[in-house]
Formats: sequence, structure tokens, C-alpha cells
Amino acid sequence: MRHCIERKRDGKALSASEWDAIIDGFMEGRIDEAQTAALFMACVWRGMNFEEAHALTDAMVRSGETVTFDPSKGVVVDKHSSGGVGDIVSLVAVPLAAACGARVAKLSGRALGHTGGTIDKLEAIPGFNAALSLDAFVRQVERVGCAIAAQTQALVPADKRVYNLRDRTGTVPAMGLIAASIVSKKIACGAHAIVFDVKTGPASFTPQPEQARELARWLVEICKGFGRKAVAFVTDMHQPLGRTVGTGIEMVEARDLLRAAPQDGRAMELILKIVGELLDASEIAGGETHARKALKDGSGYAKLVEMVEAQGASRGALEGMELDAKPLTVKASQSGFVHAIDVVHLGNAGRHLSQHDKLGGLFASVQIGDRVEAGQPLARVYGADKEHARNLEACFKIAATPAEPPPLVYDTVT
Ligand code: URA
Repeated sequence: MRHCIERKRDGKALSASEWDAIIDGFMEGRIDEAQTAALFMACVWRGMNFEEAHALTDAMVRSGETVTFDPSKGVVVDKHSSGGVGDIVSLVAVPLAAACGARVAKLSGRALGHTGGTIDKLEAIPGFNAALSLDAFVRQVERVGCAIAAQTQALVPADKRVYNLRDRTGTVPAMGLIAASIVSKKIACGAHAIVFDVKTGPASFTPQPEQARELARWLVEICKGFGRKAVAFVTDMHQPLGRTVGTGIEMVEARDLLRAAPQDGRAMELILKIVGELLDASEIAGGETHARKALKDGSGYAKLVEMVEAQGASRGALEGMELDAKPLTVKASQSGFVHAIDVVHLGNAGRHLSQHDKLGGLFASVQIGDRVEAGQPLARVYGADKEHARNLEACFKIAATPAEPPPLVYDTVT
């Protein structure tokens, strides 16, 4: 191991068998944390090439079980977000794509820092079971067309331990390590094609668009190296994607979007784009137009209900989720245009509110570029601890000059 650390320190590439031996040795306790952390720090400074990232991904995948979907029964697709605030895409896109005939297999994570976790949002539905065995997960995808379940210990155990070590040693930000961590979980999940949503902006992991583009390229290239199809969108995270921030409250917004079927708005625009891509990857004709139709005719909502019922909750439990009838309203103290939104602060506030009340959180009434008048609501705050969110006005930067909304999609990487 010392030889590998020294070579990486000197800017050399390690071979696939060396990466294999490193992950095996680390998992079996033959290589200690100090050495592994030193190697990762050398990766942060010296970088890794695609071949190394592919080899590390492969070694991590082989540390645990993998899911296999029979390709003769049709393509299975997956969708992954690099993490954001108010990111309700999976909750809407997965059932909507399945309603169009796609088979969508998604294992999701929990909230991390100020960013939300899809599993926490689904578990806000009373009775919802996210802890599916891998067999039950595969059977549900085959029977219902979609499943969203919690990442299990059985898949890529190396990532859990490696990520924990990286987190403690300041070695998270190395493109090759990040890409291997994300892609290993996607490959182990068994999908034949993956659509990535790489966020850029202050609340994302890659704040600058150029960093996000680079991560998108790494993700797509490594997937292709495993014979999987992949595409990545680089999308905006300067403000919450949807209107709500929290856990259960975001589930309510997703439910209502599928039920009311609006054909526009930032969140819906991105959802339809991603569903269009999932359908293309599944070789189902019609793309976004097909998705719009399934939204409008109610089949997207029906598929959400079917998925929720398959995972232990009832339609009544989903439909009975009601927000606090007396939210606190945060008002603008001056007129002008919204120039910026402190999305990290909103993310933290939403998380805090939902820790005190499953349906606690906030609803952002305005977005960047909107004109506001003094006294107009900027946000509504829901939940048991809402009095603690009185200071949220400071999250909305208002100035007299007009402001441009940020782009929704910065780039598409294929
Ligand atoms: N998300 C992951 O799963 N892994 C990383 O290394 C970074 C973000």
C-alpha cells in the first residue's frame, strides 16, 4: 500500500488490480484508515484518470451484492440527483415514467446536510415501507413498473465505509472518488440506463457550472464503461426547485403536482424533460409529449398511488396528508425584484421544521426574478416549530432593479 500512496503522491496512475487490492484490503482490515486516507488525499491533489475511476467503481461494486434485471423483459432505467433543496423530481418522475410504460428501479438516500432525501419524503406517508429486500424490489419493478426503496447495506458496503472516511478526512472533493461513489451504487442497482441530474449553484455539491459539467462527464463516461447508457443534465440550484422545502411537505407538493397536472413551472419543466429522457432510454416513443399526456390523463397519479400501495401505505394515507391550516406568513418589507435566495438557509430551515413535525416545512411564494410589493408574502411556514422561522425574510435578497431568473438547464452531457 505504501508504494501505491507514494506513486499517487507523485502523480502516477494506479492499475485496476491495485485499486481492487486497496478496496479489498480496506474492507478486510489489512489496510488501515490512515493509509487509505493518505491515498485519498493524494487523489484530491493529484487527480485520477477515467480508467482509475472505472477500476475503483468496479472494485466497490464487487464489495457487495448486485441486482440483475432480465434484459429480455425490457430496459430498466434509473434516475439520480446529485442532491438539492426542494428537489421533488424523483417523487413525480418515477411514477410518471412508469405510467408511460417504463420500468424504473430507484434506490434512494436520506437527507444529507441541507439537502433533502427522497426516502424521508416517502416515509412521511403513514405506512410507507422503503426497506424492501432486493428480491421484493425487483419483483415490484416487474409488477408495478416502478419502486423507490432505501439503499441497503448489502449493496456497495465499501461506499459506506469509504464515504465515512472521506467525510472525516476532508477527502470528499476528488472528482474520481465522487464519481466512483455515485456510479458504483447505480451499477449495483442493475438499471440498464441512467439519467443523472447534476445540480449547480450554492446549495449543490458542485457550485460552479464548470464543476457540475465535469462531474456530469465523469458520471456518463464511467457508466458507459460498464456498458450502461447514460445522460446527465446540469441543472440549477440557486433556489429551491419546487415550491416547498421540508420532507412530508415535499411529498404533498409532488402528490399535488401529479394530481393537478400543471404543464408548466420550473419543477414540472425539469420533471417532464427527465421523464422524456427516461422514455427515450427505455425505447418508448413520444418523449416529453407522451409524459405530458400521462400527466394530464391522470395515469401518472394513478401510478403513484399504485406504487405507494405496493409499498404498504394506502391511497387514504397519501391523500390524507394535510398541511397545517394556519401557516406563518413571511412578508417582504420592501418592494422590488427577487435577486437571490439563500437556498442553503432555506434547506436547513425546512429540515429543522420537518424534524419537529413530519409535515413541517416551508412554501416559497416567490422565485428569483419575481417582482414583489412590500407586504407581499415571500414564504409560508408550516409545522409545530414555525415561530422559529420568523427570520426567513433575510433569505430573500430584494433590490429595486429587475433580476433575471437563472437558467433551469445549463447543459446536457451524453
Ligand atoms: N454523493 C455520493 O453518493 N458520493 C459522493 O462521494 C458524493 C455525493
